[in-house]
Amino acid sequence: MRRLVILGSTGSIGEQALELVAAADDLELVAISAERRWERLIAQAQQHGVRRVAIADEQSAQLARAAWDGEVLSGPEALAELIVAAEPDLVLNAIVGSAGLAATVITLSEGIDLALANKESLVVGGELVIELAAATGARLLPVDSEHSALYQLIASENGQPPGTIERLTLTASGGPFRGRRREDLEAVTVEEALDHPTWQMGGKISIDSATLMNKGLELIEAHQLFGVAYNDLEVVVHPQSIVHAMISLADGSSLAHLGYPDMKVPIAYALHWPQRTKLELAPLDLEQLGSLNFEAVDNEAFPCLSLALAAGREGGTAPCVLNAANEVAVAAFLDRRCAFLQIAEVIEATLSDAEIMQSYSFETLIDADRAARATAAEHLVTLA
Ligand code: NAD
Ligand code: MG
Repeated sequence: MRRLVILGSTGSIGEQALELVAAADDLELVAISAERRWERLIAQAQQHGVRRVAIADEQSAQLARAAWDGEVLSGPEALAELIVAAEPDLVLNAIVGSAGLAATVITLSEGIDLALANKESLVVGGELVIELAAATGARLLPVDSEHSALYQLIASENGQPPGTIERLTLTASGGPFRGRRREDLEAVTVEEALDHPTWQMGGKISIDSATLMNKGLELIEAHQLFGVAYNDLEVVVHPQSIVHAMISLADGSSLAHLGYPDMKVPIAYALHWPQRTKLELAPLDLEQLGSLNFEAVDNEAFPCLSLALAAGREGGTAPCVLNAANEVAVAAFLDRRCAFLQIAEVIEATLSDAEIMQSYSFETLIDADRAARATAAEHLVTLA
């Protein structure tokens, strides 16, 4: 039995992971956490026989305590207490945003293997997170579909001489606004932006997919996870989301990872690694698909990808600032406080104001994140 903790269990990834846990006979769920949806969290705990939960929002935690006789942790140390007390073999971090960094750090510091959906952890503190995993020997298993695909493809070349893998390619669906010009994006609504053509996801990542910031965050994630230079990483738009990633090899061959877009596949891979597990999914039907299309990214209509790449190349605290500004701008867009194209403007203005530090600690990252959020909020006011 593998003892599992799911952080962010009430979210899109969290709920899908719970379905997989219910169907698996080798996973024992020992603790779960959420931000504030306590009723859903308690229902999950009851359904899965979990006796210990953490809730970030204090008021929601109090309501949960009044309604349930299990252990409800809250406060700044809640996640650390939860993880240590649960003694898991594996933690799934499915929290959204830089709020997930602390959970990544706690898990890896304890030497516990981490299934990481929270890509923002690697964007904000990539070098430190990777160093921490190496120091404690904890394994980092990516849940993001492209990175799960790359992880598997790279593993298939294990034992080959250095330099065998020359290039990594991540595919992007292009989001709901693929094919539109910049001027066609001025008046797009929240509903249109949330209407993703191939993936069903939480609100923040759906907007990131519409701006292509998601692919920018994923480039930084891939750079950190696989230690590959930005020059050797590329993005190609692939509207069907069937090819998730590809690696190009020294002998002229390329290996790709294919499947219908379904997050259960990469989640299950991370939860069961190194075993593959049986999922009741339709096999890929190439005849029915007929054709797969690929096209270049329109960087003028979708400037967030270039902003992320530039921040990644700059390094230091630049990706942390980029991510914080993006979180503030996306929240404002979802709240209808800013227009779609202003998301990129807020990020660019925040990055140009920020003092980027090349060397940093987890504490400096928290400061840089906080400062960037304040600057981004000011830019939102100026733009309004
Ligand atoms: P979501 O918004 O559906 O769920 C987020 C979860 O995080 C919720 O359970 C929420 O309670 C919890 N949470 C939020 N803020 C928190 C805080 N301050 N403290 C503790 N918990 C908090 O998000 P999602 O779509 O499931 O995405 C989760 C992560 O997985 C993100 O980093 C996202 O980029 C990544 N991811 C998601 C998908 C997808 O298909 N949804 C695909 C690839 C990667
Ligand atoms: Mg992805």
